[in-house]
Amino acid sequence: EPMSLADVLLDCNVLIGPQAQNRGIGLVFPSFDEALYIHADLTRVKQVMINLLSNAIKYNRPGGVVTVRYERSGAHCVRILVADSGNGLTAAQIGQLFQPFNRLGQEDSTEEGTGIGLVVTKQLVELMNGTIGVTSEPGIGTEFWVEFPIASAPTLMEAEHSVIASAVLTPPVAQAGKLRTLLYVEDNPANMELVEMLIARRSDLKLLTAINGHLGVVMARSYKPDVILMDINLPGLSGIGALKILLNDPATAHIPVIALSANAVPRDIERGMEAGFFRYLTKPIKVVEFMDALDVALNFAEQNGLGPTAVAPRSVDTSK
Ligand code: MN
Repeated sequence: EPMSLADVLLDCNVLIGPQAQNRGIGLVFPSFDEALYIHADLTRVKQVMINLLSNAIKYNRPGGVVTVRYERSGAHCVRILVADSGNGLTAAQIGQLFQPFNRLGQEDSTEEGTGIGLVVTKQLVELMNGTIGVTSEPGIGTEFWVEFPIASAPTLMEAEHSVIASAVLTPPVAQAGKLRTLLYVEDNPANMELVEMLIARRSDLKLLTAINGHLGVVMARSYKPDVILMDINLPGLSGIGALKILLNDPATAHIPVIALSANAVPRDIERGMEAGFFRYLTKPIKVVEFMDALDVALNFAEQNGLGPTAVAPRSVDTSK
């Protein structure tokens, strides 16, 4: 999924902040004057960044600082650099860095290793078509870097540009006074922005958002939205887990829930439909398909919104 680099680093800053504070290490994060998106897996990128940050804090000098910066690397990549102000590494130590069981040349330290090591970090980076490297100056510090392919901002599929105008700019005329509510449960800010943009053009729809499954369930119970749009891959409670809770609750069981997922494998779609989703859409969001599914669900909600006993018909669309 394309994700905003600024958002990823902001999350990392929040997550690593306490650890830096505990050790009296300063943290410097870059500010972004451009929107940069990378192609990567959100959970893995955070694991990688947290590991590099955590090492930079751990192997620092008292009162030291960790500096994060980024730079474009060629036309298609962005490099994120994490520098410590520790002792630095010798060439021999650098040669050992990505070897199994290596702990940055401080094996005799009493520090407990935390999280994943550099070997796993390197594997994660390479799984996402990224690269990892390091430079170091003894006495000055060490700087690790990772590089990821730049993605274009999540946007409407190229092929659909010609039909967007009719699909989005001429929404169905809202029935007088009838404002319907859509709840979107999504942890990826980039996708959230795109859906907000699409829904903003629908005068008949109000958008509620939740950034994880638990909040989604809470919001669904309090606001009883007409339709729910559910990301599958959510931190903590998954989209499928949240759906199960909603289906088991008489107060929310009647609400059609559309899955929106990056898992485009037919088996995942089947599994999703078995779990009880009304429709299963795959990312990247295709505007026409998205608007169609939304309208079908809204119509269904209107006809069946008579009470919690109504059961949504499930259908599998495997044509795409
Ligand atoms: Mn997600």
